[in-house]
Amino acid sequence: MSMTYYINVYGCQMNVHDSEIISGILESESFSSTEDPESADVILLVSCAVREHAETRVLGRVSQLGGWWRGRKSGKPLMVLCGCVAQEHGDSLLERFRDLDLVVGPDCYRDLPRLIRGSARMSAVDFREGDYTGIEPVRTEFPRAYVTIMRGCDNFCSYCIVPYVRGREHSRKSDAILSEIAALSEGGYGEITLLGQNVNSYHDGETSFPLLLRRVASEARSSWIRFVTSHPKDLGQETVKVMASEQNICRYLHLPFQSGSDVILKKMNRGYTTREYLERIGMLRDAMPDIVLSTDVIAGFPGESEEDFQKTIDLLEEVRFDNAFLFKYSERSGTAACSLEDPVSEEERLARLNRLQDLQRRITVEKSGELLRRTLRILVTGPAKKPRQQAGRTEGNRMVILEDTDFNPGSFVNVRITRADGWTHFGEPCGSPER
Ligand code: SAH
Ligand code: SF4
Repeated sequence: MSMTYYINVYGCQMNVHDSEIISGILESESFSSTEDPESADVILLVSCAVREHAETRVLGRVSQLGGWWRGRKSGKPLMVLCGCVAQEHGDSLLERFRDLDLVVGPDCYRDLPRLIRGSARMSAVDFREGDYTGIEPVRTEFPRAYVTIMRGCDNFCSYCIVPYVRGREHSRKSDAILSEIAALSEGGYGEITLLGQNVNSYHDGETSFPLLLRRVASEARSSWIRFVTSHPKDLGQETVKVMASEQNICRYLHLPFQSGSDVILKKMNRGYTTREYLERIGMLRDAMPDIVLSTDVIAGFPGESEEDFQKTIDLLEEVRFDNAFLFKYSERSGTAACSLEDPVSEEERLARLNRLQDLQRRITVEKSGELLRRTLRILVTGPAKKPRQQAGRTEGNRMVILEDTDFNPGSFVNVRITRADGWTHFGEPCGSPER
Protein backbone atom coordinates (compact mmCIF):
# COMPACT_ATOMS: atom_id res chain seq x y z
CA MET A 1 0.00 0.00 0.00
CA SER A 2 1.33 3.43 -0.86
CA MET A 3 1.97 5.75 2.09
CA THR A 4 2.46 9.51 2.30
CA TYR A 5 5.25 11.21 4.23
CA TYR A 6 5.91 14.72 5.50
CA ILE A 7 9.50 15.72 6.17
CA ASN A 8 10.88 18.60 8.22
CA VAL A 9 14.56 19.47 8.24
CA TYR A 10 16.70 21.29 10.80
CA GLY A 11 20.34 22.38 10.51
CA CYS A 12 23.01 22.56 7.86
CA GLN A 13 23.16 21.99 4.11
CA MET A 14 24.28 18.43 4.78
CA ASN A 15 20.96 17.81 6.53
CA VAL A 16 18.99 19.49 3.75
CA HIS A 17 20.67 17.14 1.30
CA ASP A 18 20.20 14.13 3.60
CA SER A 19 16.49 14.89 3.58
CA GLU A 20 16.57 14.86 -0.25
CA ILE A 21 18.26 11.46 -0.04
CA ILE A 22 15.66 10.20 2.46
CA SER A 23 12.93 11.35 0.06
CA GLY A 24 14.74 9.54 -2.78
CA ILE A 25 14.85 6.31 -0.77
CA LEU A 26 11.18 6.55 0.22
CA GLU A 27 9.92 7.51 -3.24
CA SER A 28 11.80 4.64 -4.87
CA GLU A 29 9.67 2.39 -2.65
CA SER A 30 6.37 4.03 -3.64
CA PHE A 31 5.99 6.46 -0.75
CA SER A 32 4.78 9.87 -1.87
CA SER A 33 5.47 13.22 -0.25
CA THR A 34 2.85 15.59 1.15
CA GLU A 35 3.11 19.18 2.33
CA ASP A 36 0.26 18.59 4.74
CA PRO A 37 1.20 17.08 8.12
CA GLU A 38 -2.54 16.64 8.93
CA SER A 39 -2.92 13.87 6.40
CA ALA A 40 0.59 12.32 6.34
CA ASP A 41 0.98 8.64 7.25
CA VAL A 42 4.58 9.25 8.31
CA ILE A 43 6.22 12.34 9.83
CA LEU A 44 10.00 12.54 9.66
CA LEU A 45 12.20 15.09 11.40
CA VAL A 46 15.83 15.41 10.31
CA SER A 47 17.67 16.73 13.35
CA CYS A 48 20.86 18.68 14.12
CA ALA A 49 22.95 18.17 17.29
CA VAL A 50 25.79 20.62 16.71
CA ARG A 51 24.70 23.02 19.44
CA GLU A 52 22.41 22.45 22.40
CA HIS A 53 19.92 25.00 21.10
CA ALA A 54 19.41 23.07 17.84
CA GLU A 55 18.89 19.84 19.75
CA THR A 56 16.43 21.40 22.20
CA ARG A 57 14.44 22.81 19.31
CA VAL A 58 13.98 19.53 17.52
CA LEU A 59 13.21 17.60 20.72
CA GLY A 60 10.68 20.29 21.61
CA ARG A 61 9.05 19.61 18.26
CA VAL A 62 8.98 15.85 18.94
CA SER A 63 7.30 16.49 22.24
CA GLN A 64 4.82 18.92 20.70
CA LEU A 65 3.92 16.41 17.94
CA GLY A 66 3.02 13.98 20.71
CA GLY A 67 0.19 16.27 21.82
CA TRP A 68 -0.70 17.49 18.35
CA TRP A 69 -1.63 14.18 16.70
CA ARG A 70 -4.29 13.52 19.33
CA GLY A 71 -6.39 16.22 17.69
CA ARG A 72 -5.81 14.85 14.20
CA LYS A 73 -8.77 13.39 12.26
CA SER A 74 -6.57 10.76 10.63
CA GLY A 75 -5.20 9.45 13.97
CA LYS A 76 -1.61 8.83 14.88
CA PRO A 77 1.03 9.15 12.17
CA LEU A 78 4.21 7.10 12.36
CA MET A 79 6.80 9.44 13.88
CA VAL A 80 10.44 9.13 12.89
CA LEU A 81 13.42 11.05 14.21
CA CYS A 82 16.38 11.02 11.79
CA GLY A 83 19.79 12.73 11.81
CA CYS A 84 22.41 13.62 14.38
CA VAL A 85 20.21 13.82 17.51
CA ALA A 86 18.86 10.35 16.64
CA GLN A 87 22.42 9.05 16.39
CA GLU A 88 23.46 10.78 19.60
CA HIS A 89 20.71 9.45 21.88
CA GLY A 90 19.48 6.29 20.09
CA ASP A 91 17.10 4.03 21.99
CA SER A 92 16.79 6.32 24.99
CA LEU A 93 14.63 8.66 22.88
CA LEU A 94 12.03 5.91 22.50
CA GLU A 95 11.73 5.75 26.27
CA ARG A 96 11.61 9.50 26.63
CA PHE A 97 9.03 10.14 23.89
CA ARG A 98 6.31 7.49 23.98
CA ASP A 99 4.84 8.61 20.64
CA LEU A 100 8.09 8.37 18.74
CA ASP A 101 8.22 5.19 16.66
CA LEU A 102 11.63 5.15 15.00
CA VAL A 103 15.04 6.68 15.67
CA VAL A 104 17.29 6.47 12.62
CA GLY A 105 20.89 7.72 12.36
CA PRO A 106 22.58 9.24 9.29
CA ASP A 107 24.07 5.96 8.00
CA CYS A 108 20.84 3.94 8.22
CA TYR A 109 18.45 5.75 5.89
CA ARG A 110 18.38 2.85 3.42
CA ASP A 111 16.52 0.88 6.12
CA LEU A 112 13.72 3.45 6.40
CA PRO A 113 11.12 1.81 4.10
CA ARG A 114 11.55 -1.55 5.85
CA LEU A 115 11.48 -0.01 9.32
CA ILE A 116 8.42 2.09 8.51
CA ARG A 117 6.51 -0.92 7.16
CA GLY A 118 7.56 -3.13 10.07
CA SER A 119 5.59 -2.71 13.24
CA ALA A 120 8.40 -2.46 15.81
CA ARG A 121 9.33 0.69 17.66
CA MET A 122 13.09 0.71 17.36
CA SER A 123 16.30 2.58 16.70
CA ALA A 124 18.81 2.03 13.88
CA VAL A 125 22.03 3.86 14.64
CA ASP A 126 24.97 1.75 13.41
CA PHE A 127 27.82 3.36 11.54
CA ARG A 128 28.18 1.87 8.07
CA GLU A 129 30.93 2.06 5.50
CA GLY A 130 28.75 2.63 2.43
CA ASP A 131 27.35 5.91 1.13
CA TYR A 132 24.18 6.77 -0.75
CA THR A 133 25.55 6.28 -4.25
CA GLY A 134 22.81 4.85 -6.44
CA ILE A 135 20.01 6.70 -4.64
CA GLU A 136 18.40 9.42 -6.75
CA PRO A 137 17.85 12.35 -4.33
CA VAL A 138 14.55 14.21 -4.68
CA ARG A 139 15.99 17.66 -5.17
CA THR A 140 14.04 20.51 -3.67
CA GLU A 141 16.17 23.55 -4.39
CA PHE A 142 16.35 23.88 -8.19
CA PRO A 143 18.43 25.56 -9.67
CA ARG A 144 20.75 24.85 -6.74
CA ALA A 145 21.95 21.30 -6.09
CA TYR A 146 24.05 19.61 -3.41
CA VAL A 147 26.37 16.71 -4.04
CA THR A 148 27.96 14.83 -1.14
CA ILE A 149 31.61 14.08 -1.79
CA MET A 150 32.44 12.75 1.67
CA ARG A 151 30.67 11.84 4.87
CA GLY A 152 31.86 11.84 8.50
CA CYS A 153 34.81 13.61 10.07
CA ASP A 154 38.10 12.54 11.66
CA ASN A 155 39.22 15.88 13.03
CA PHE A 156 37.79 15.75 16.53
CA CYS A 157 37.88 19.48 17.17
CA SER A 158 37.46 19.37 20.95
CA TYR A 159 34.10 21.20 21.03
CA CYS A 160 32.45 19.29 18.22
CA ILE A 161 29.96 16.44 18.28
CA VAL A 162 30.06 15.75 14.52
CA PRO A 163 32.70 12.96 14.56
CA TYR A 164 30.62 11.14 17.20
CA VAL A 165 27.32 11.36 15.36
CA ARG A 166 28.48 11.10 11.76
CA GLY A 167 31.29 8.61 12.22
CA ARG A 168 34.64 8.32 10.47
CA GLU A 169 35.47 10.27 7.34
CA HIS A 170 34.98 8.45 4.06
CA SER A 171 35.16 9.82 0.54
CA ARG A 172 32.80 8.83 -2.26
CA LYS A 173 34.34 7.46 -5.44
CA SER A 174 35.05 10.28 -7.88
CA ASP A 175 33.38 8.42 -10.79
CA ALA A 176 30.09 8.34 -8.88
CA ILE A 177 30.41 12.04 -8.04
CA LEU A 178 31.21 12.99 -11.63
CA SER A 179 28.27 11.11 -13.09
CA GLU A 180 25.96 12.86 -10.60
CA ILE A 181 27.47 16.20 -11.65
CA ALA A 182 27.01 15.40 -15.35
CA ALA A 183 23.31 14.67 -14.77
CA LEU A 184 22.84 17.93 -12.84
CA SER A 185 24.54 19.94 -15.54
CA GLU A 186 22.32 18.28 -18.13
CA GLY A 187 19.29 19.11 -15.96
CA GLY A 188 20.07 22.85 -16.05
CA TYR A 189 21.18 23.25 -12.43
CA GLY A 190 22.94 26.63 -12.29
CA GLU A 191 24.78 26.02 -9.03
CA ILE A 192 26.28 22.83 -7.65
CA THR A 193 27.69 22.70 -4.11
CA LEU A 194 30.05 19.90 -3.13
CA LEU A 195 29.43 18.88 0.48
CA GLY A 196 31.63 17.42 3.19
CA GLN A 197 32.71 18.28 6.74
CA ASN A 198 36.26 18.82 5.55
CA VAL A 199 36.25 18.76 1.75
CA ASN A 200 39.96 19.57 1.46
CA SER A 201 40.90 16.18 2.83
CA TYR A 202 38.81 14.41 0.17
CA HIS A 203 40.66 11.41 -1.29
CA ASP A 204 39.10 8.33 -2.85
CA GLY A 205 42.41 6.47 -3.16
CA GLU A 206 43.18 7.94 -6.60
CA THR A 207 41.75 11.43 -6.74
CA SER A 208 42.58 14.29 -4.40
CA PHE A 209 40.32 17.29 -3.77
CA PRO A 210 41.97 19.74 -6.22
CA LEU A 211 41.85 17.15 -8.99
CA LEU A 212 38.22 16.34 -8.23
CA LEU A 213 37.40 20.05 -8.25
CA ARG A 214 39.01 20.52 -11.67
CA ARG A 215 37.09 17.56 -13.10
CA VAL A 216 33.82 18.76 -11.60
CA ALA A 217 34.37 22.22 -13.09
CA SER A 218 34.93 20.83 -16.57
CA GLU A 219 32.03 18.37 -16.31
CA ALA A 220 29.56 21.21 -15.57
CA ARG A 221 30.88 24.18 -17.54
CA SER A 222 27.65 26.13 -17.46
CA SER A 223 27.05 25.74 -13.71
CA TRP A 224 28.62 27.59 -10.82
CA ILE A 225 30.57 25.29 -8.51
CA ARG A 226 30.90 25.82 -4.75
CA PHE A 227 32.21 23.61 -1.98
CA VAL A 228 31.77 23.57 1.77
CA THR A 229 33.34 23.23 4.34
CA SER A 230 37.04 23.92 3.99
CA HIS A 231 39.31 23.34 6.94
CA PRO A 232 42.21 25.85 7.10
CA LYS A 233 44.75 23.17 7.98
CA ASP A 234 44.00 21.23 4.77
CA LEU A 235 43.43 24.07 2.31
CA GLY A 236 46.41 23.82 -0.04
CA GLN A 237 47.92 25.95 -2.78
CA GLU A 238 46.76 23.52 -5.45
CA THR A 239 43.08 24.02 -4.55
CA VAL A 240 43.54 27.79 -4.67
CA LYS A 241 45.17 27.46 -8.10
CA VAL A 242 42.25 25.42 -9.41
CA MET A 243 39.77 27.97 -8.01
CA ALA A 244 41.61 30.82 -9.66
CA SER A 245 41.98 29.13 -13.03
CA GLU A 246 38.53 27.60 -13.55
CA GLN A 247 36.00 30.25 -14.54
CA ASN A 248 32.95 28.46 -13.20
CA ILE A 249 34.29 27.84 -9.69
CA CYS A 250 32.80 30.58 -7.53
CA ARG A 251 35.23 33.07 -6.11
CA TYR A 252 33.76 32.49 -2.71
CA LEU A 253 35.10 30.55 0.24
CA HIS A 254 33.77 29.68 3.65
CA LEU A 255 36.82 29.23 5.87
CA PRO A 256 36.00 28.90 9.59
CA PHE A 257 38.69 30.23 11.92
CA GLN A 258 36.81 29.66 15.24
CA SER A 259 39.19 31.74 17.42
CA GLY A 260 41.86 34.40 16.96
CA SER A 261 43.91 33.12 19.91
CA ASP A 262 46.56 30.45 19.38
CA VAL A 263 46.11 29.22 22.95
CA ILE A 264 42.41 28.60 22.31
CA LEU A 265 42.99 27.14 18.83
CA LYS A 266 45.29 24.61 20.41
CA LYS A 267 42.72 23.70 23.05
CA MET A 268 40.18 23.39 20.25
CA ASN A 269 42.51 20.93 18.47
CA ARG A 270 42.19 22.87 15.23
CA GLY A 271 45.66 22.13 13.90
CA TYR A 272 46.67 25.67 12.76
CA THR A 273 47.79 28.94 14.26
CA THR A 274 46.35 32.37 13.49
CA ARG A 275 49.49 33.13 11.49
CA GLU A 276 48.91 30.08 9.32
CA TYR A 277 45.27 31.03 8.95
CA LEU A 278 46.17 34.53 7.81
CA GLU A 279 48.68 33.07 5.34
CA ARG A 280 45.83 31.07 3.77
CA ILE A 281 43.74 34.25 3.51
CA GLY A 282 46.72 36.00 1.90
CA MET A 283 47.16 33.16 -0.57
CA LEU A 284 43.46 33.31 -1.53
CA ARG A 285 43.44 37.09 -1.94
CA ASP A 286 46.68 37.11 -3.92
CA ALA A 287 45.24 34.61 -6.37
CA MET A 288 41.71 36.11 -6.44
CA PRO A 289 41.63 39.72 -5.20
CA ASP A 290 37.83 39.88 -5.49
CA ILE A 291 37.15 36.66 -3.54
CA VAL A 292 34.21 36.78 -1.11
CA LEU A 293 35.05 35.24 2.27
CA SER A 294 32.92 33.98 5.11
CA THR A 295 33.79 32.25 8.35
CA ASP A 296 32.57 30.62 11.59
CA VAL A 297 33.59 31.83 15.04
CA ILE A 298 32.94 30.48 18.54
CA ALA A 299 32.83 32.87 21.51
CA GLY A 300 33.41 31.81 25.11
CA PHE A 301 35.25 28.51 24.66
CA PRO A 302 36.47 27.18 28.06
CA GLY A 303 39.51 29.11 29.25
CA GLU A 304 38.96 32.00 26.79
CA SER A 305 40.24 35.12 28.58
CA GLU A 306 39.26 38.66 27.66
CA GLU A 307 42.67 38.90 26.02
CA ASP A 308 42.05 35.76 23.92
CA PHE A 309 38.65 37.10 22.93
CA GLN A 310 40.16 40.43 21.92
CA LYS A 311 42.37 38.51 19.47
CA THR A 312 39.24 37.08 17.85
CA ILE A 313 37.86 40.61 17.51
CA ASP A 314 41.20 41.72 16.02
CA LEU A 315 41.14 38.90 13.48
CA LEU A 316 37.59 39.75 12.38
CA GLU A 317 38.69 43.38 11.96
CA GLU A 318 41.85 42.45 10.12
CA VAL A 319 40.35 40.05 7.57
CA ARG A 320 37.06 41.90 7.18
CA PHE A 321 35.02 38.88 6.13
CA ASP A 322 32.06 39.58 3.89
CA ASN A 323 29.92 37.45 6.19
CA ALA A 324 30.40 35.48 9.41
CA PHE A 325 28.42 32.86 11.31
CA LEU A 326 28.94 33.60 14.98
CA PHE A 327 28.17 31.18 17.80
CA LYS A 328 28.52 31.08 21.53
CA TYR A 329 30.21 27.95 22.82
CA SER A 330 27.78 25.17 23.60
CA GLU A 331 28.94 22.22 25.63
CA ARG A 332 28.26 18.90 23.87
CA SER A 333 28.39 15.86 26.07
CA GLY A 334 31.11 13.34 25.26
CA THR A 335 33.39 15.89 23.56
CA ALA A 336 36.90 16.58 24.88
CA ALA A 337 36.11 20.21 25.72
CA CYS A 338 33.68 19.08 28.43
CA SER A 339 36.57 18.19 30.69
CA LEU A 340 38.41 21.51 30.24
CA GLU A 341 38.67 23.78 33.23
CA ASP A 342 37.72 27.38 33.58
CA PRO A 343 34.39 27.60 31.76
CA VAL A 344 33.26 31.03 30.63
CA SER A 345 29.93 31.95 32.24
CA GLU A 346 26.83 31.81 30.04
CA GLU A 347 26.32 35.52 30.59
CA GLU A 348 29.84 36.30 29.40
CA ARG A 349 29.52 34.00 26.36
CA LEU A 350 26.41 35.89 25.36
CA ALA A 351 28.06 39.27 25.94
CA ARG A 352 31.01 38.25 23.76
CA LEU A 353 28.71 36.91 21.07
CA ASN A 354 26.90 40.26 21.03
CA ARG A 355 30.17 42.11 20.62
CA LEU A 356 31.12 39.90 17.67
CA GLN A 357 27.70 40.39 16.11
CA ASP A 358 27.88 44.18 16.42
CA LEU A 359 31.29 44.28 14.82
CA GLN A 360 30.45 41.91 11.98
CA ARG A 361 27.16 43.66 11.25
CA ARG A 362 29.11 46.87 10.72
CA ILE A 363 31.66 45.18 8.44
CA THR A 364 28.98 43.34 6.43
CA VAL A 365 27.08 46.60 5.91
CA GLU A 366 30.24 48.45 4.86
CA LYS A 367 31.26 45.75 2.42
CA SER A 368 27.77 45.47 0.98
CA GLY A 369 27.68 49.24 0.53
CA GLU A 370 30.74 48.95 -1.70
CA LEU A 371 28.60 47.02 -4.19
CA LEU A 372 26.11 49.86 -4.76
CA ARG A 373 25.77 50.78 -8.43
CA ARG A 374 28.00 47.89 -9.46
CA THR A 375 26.83 45.37 -12.03
CA LEU A 376 26.96 41.75 -10.87
CA ARG A 377 25.95 38.49 -12.45
CA ILE A 378 23.34 36.55 -10.50
CA LEU A 379 21.71 33.16 -10.74
CA VAL A 380 17.94 33.58 -10.41
CA THR A 381 16.82 31.03 -7.83
CA GLY A 382 13.03 31.60 -7.65
CA PRO A 383 10.37 33.69 -5.93
CA ALA A 384 11.44 35.78 -2.94
CA LYS A 385 9.40 36.08 0.28
CA LYS A 386 7.31 39.05 -0.81
CA PRO A 387 4.90 38.95 -3.77
CA ARG A 388 6.21 40.13 -7.14
CA GLN A 389 9.80 39.68 -6.05
CA GLN A 390 12.37 37.20 -7.29
CA ALA A 391 15.57 36.17 -5.53
CA GLY A 392 18.98 35.32 -6.86
CA ARG A 393 22.54 34.78 -5.69
CA THR A 394 25.78 36.36 -6.75
CA GLU A 395 28.91 34.36 -7.31
CA GLY A 396 29.91 35.50 -3.79
CA ASN A 397 26.70 33.90 -2.44
CA ARG A 398 25.03 37.23 -1.60
CA MET A 399 21.29 37.31 -1.94
CA VAL A 400 19.86 39.79 -4.47
CA ILE A 401 16.17 40.66 -4.68
CA LEU A 402 14.61 41.74 -7.97
CA GLU A 403 11.28 43.51 -8.22
CA ASP A 404 8.65 42.87 -10.91
CA THR A 405 10.77 40.45 -12.90
CA ASP A 406 9.77 37.16 -14.42
CA PHE A 407 12.95 35.24 -15.16
CA ASN A 408 13.05 31.47 -15.29
CA PRO A 409 14.79 30.03 -12.23
CA GLY A 410 18.21 28.91 -13.42
CA SER A 411 18.78 31.99 -15.62
CA PHE A 412 21.95 33.98 -15.20
CA VAL A 413 21.20 37.71 -15.30
CA ASN A 414 23.31 40.84 -14.96
CA VAL A 415 21.93 43.22 -12.35
CA ARG A 416 22.86 46.65 -11.08
CA ILE A 417 22.81 46.85 -7.29
CA THR A 418 20.50 49.66 -6.22
CA ARG A 419 20.22 49.09 -2.47
CA ALA A 420 22.06 47.01 0.13
CA ASP A 421 20.68 45.79 3.40
CA GLY A 422 23.34 43.69 5.13
CA TRP A 423 23.80 40.40 3.26
CA THR A 424 20.65 41.08 1.19
CA HIS A 425 20.81 43.38 -1.84
CA PHE A 426 18.29 44.80 -4.25
CA GLY A 427 19.03 45.01 -7.93
CA GLU A 428 17.68 45.95 -11.34
CA PRO A 429 18.33 43.74 -14.33
CA CYS A 430 20.42 45.16 -17.13
CA GLY A 431 20.44 43.26 -20.40
CA SER A 432 18.73 39.99 -21.19
CA PRO A 433 19.25 36.70 -19.38
CA GLU A 434 22.09 34.50 -20.52
CA ARG A 435 20.07 31.31 -20.60
N1 SAH B 1 32.87 20.83 9.41
C1 SAH B 1 32.61 22.19 9.42
C2 SAH B 1 31.31 22.58 10.11
C3 SAH B 1 31.07 22.06 11.46
S1 SAH B 1 29.68 22.61 12.34
C4 SAH B 1 33.82 22.89 9.96
O1 SAH B 1 34.73 22.30 10.48
O2 SAH B 1 33.90 24.08 9.84
C5 SAH B 1 29.53 24.31 11.89
C6 SAH B 1 30.04 25.28 12.89
O3 SAH B 1 29.37 25.16 14.12
C7 SAH B 1 31.51 25.13 13.26
O4 SAH B 1 32.35 25.69 12.32
C8 SAH B 1 31.57 25.83 14.60
O5 SAH B 1 31.84 27.21 14.45
C9 SAH B 1 30.17 25.66 15.15
N2 SAH B 1 30.16 24.71 16.26
C10 SAH B 1 30.44 23.39 16.24
N3 SAH B 1 30.37 22.86 17.48
C11 SAH B 1 30.03 23.89 18.32
C12 SAH B 1 29.81 23.99 19.72
N4 SAH B 1 29.93 22.95 20.52
N5 SAH B 1 29.48 25.20 20.22
C13 SAH B 1 29.35 26.27 19.42
N6 SAH B 1 29.56 26.24 18.10
C14 SAH B 1 29.89 25.06 17.54
FE1 SF4 C 1 33.50 19.37 13.77
FE2 SF4 C 1 36.05 20.03 13.44
FE3 SF4 C 1 34.99 18.01 12.02
FE4 SF4 C 1 34.25 20.52 11.50
S1 SF4 C 1 36.30 19.67 11.24
S2 SF4 C 1 32.92 18.74 11.71
S3 SF4 C 1 34.28 21.46 13.52
S4 SF4 C 1 35.28 18.07 14.23
